[in-house]
Amino acid sequence: MKRRSFFAAILAALLLCAGCAAKPVTAQSFALDTFITVNLLSGGDEQIAQDALALVDDCEALLSAHREDSEIARLNRAPAGEVVPLSPLVRRVLAEALAIAENTGGALDVTLLAASALWDYKSEDPQVPSEEALAEALTCRGMDRIALTESGASANGAQIDLGAVAKGAIGDEVVSLLRERGVSCALLDMGGNIFTLGDKPDDSPWVVAIDDPRSDGYIGRLSLRGDWSVSTSSGAQRYFVKDGVVYHHILDPETGAPARSGLLSVTVAAPTGLLADGLSTALFVAGEEEAARILEAHYPQAAAVLVREDGTVRILGDLDFTPESAA
Ligand code: AMP
Ligand code: MG
Repeated sequence: MKRRSFFAAILAALLLCAGCAAKPVTAQSFALDTFITVNLLSGGDEQIAQDALALVDDCEALLSAHREDSEIARLNRAPAGEVVPLSPLVRRVLAEALAIAENTGGALDVTLLAASALWDYKSEDPQVPSEEALAEALTCRGMDRIALTESGASANGAQIDLGAVAKGAIGDEVVSLLRERGVSCALLDMGGNIFTLGDKPDDSPWVVAIDDPRSDGYIGRLSLRGDWSVSTSSGAQRYFVKDGVVYHHILDPETGAPARSGLLSVTVAAPTGLLADGLSTALFVAGEEEAARILEAHYPQAAAVLVREDGTVRILGDLDFTPESAA
């Protein structure tokens, strides 16, 4: 995972936000398989930063399919028809994921846990799963199996993995906590998911650098004002190469194999992290033309930067984007 850009984004924001607060507070932890950095630029203190990081851990413990005692793991283990009580956060994430799945024609599918497990990106000697193994894994798929009740859900055999939306949803929780505690200017970096909170007193915009999926550099920068979440889904974030072919972690729900939509990365800016995160994954799977249609039809509040396989960029929606060549 490339971390340089996110630190650069933070650095840029900190520099631009120099007039924002007398004493910025920064705290960092490792959670959600990435580095989490909280920068409180106005109205925060060390305790609030630590509470924010603790909240990330608490939310991960509820949402991670890979924690045996998480609510999602319990849901996945429960026999068909059994309703598992859920905390409001988990239930809301499931409900919103279902809505995004519906609006993206199934491009977002949070029931690919078994298929994802067949792709071991961390292995020394990674293997491409057989078609039979993938077909078998896809028998545990199906968003339509998930039945929500007032305060719980049953998965009915679907194996749920909220990896495509968890960071965004958890970032939303952190931003709410910061707001409640009186923080008026902050930047949260969750490795691929950036959150901006508030306006900077010097009236300069937040600047978020977007990785170039083909190199260690940047493809460009977004300038944003106020409260935003920016999420990037990229084939270059987690992948292995076998016989000259790149196999990345964003799967086509129809095949259980890496989605080949002609895009190398999708960055979405949206008012909430859950939407930005869910949409960046879904639009990557959907491909350029479908992505444009989805945003126009369902998400006028969001905008996206698509990087095509030839390295060219398409902007969808209203976004202040400066290509790196012009930066
Ligand atoms: P993201 O990095 O937010 O794009 O999410 C990618 C992660 O979500 C993967 O590591 C999988 O755990 C899971 N995933 C992969 N493909 C999909 C998909 N089409 N829909 C929903 N989740 C997916
Ligand atoms: Mg995502």
